[in-house]
Amino acid sequence: MQGGCACGAIRYRLTAQPTETSWCHCSHCRKSSGAPAVPYTTLARSGFRLERGEEYLRTAKLTDFAERLFCSLCGSPIATRLDHQPDEIDVTVATLDDPEALPPEFHIFCTSEVSWGRHEDGLPRYVRNRRDGETMP
Ligand SMILES: [Zn+2]
Ligand SMILES: [Zn+2]
Repeated sequence: MQGGCACGAIRYRLTAQPTETSWCHCSHCRKSSGAPAVPYTTLARSGFRLERGEEYLRTAKLTDFAERLFCSLCGSPIATRLDHQPDEIDVTVATLDDPEALPPEFHIFCTSEVSWGRHEDGLPRYVRNRRDGETMP
């Protein structure tokens, strides 16, 4: 699977099979994307290969445990790396050339969800992350 940013400066390839795909409704994803929620797919960090544009890739640290990778030319959010998941990377599904290939399986951080952005898709809705297991009432 291949993908890239909106302006085309950054191109990447996924060489590992993603393990899970979900919508994130947290406020950092909302604000940094300009959209009510962001779908991510999780895969082995070694399976994320930058093919072009490394010089345009920048990182933003909005918390002390997460690093967001984005294109410095067009602003597209590309991926997030979490310190507590050192072997994994979360790649933005909507920057894939074929986002249809990875439909989300659940929602996380639903406590921050924007009501008008809600998808009545029947998928599990977690209050925070899935590892906590707590679902929305
Ligand atoms: Zn770009
Ligand atoms: Zn988020």
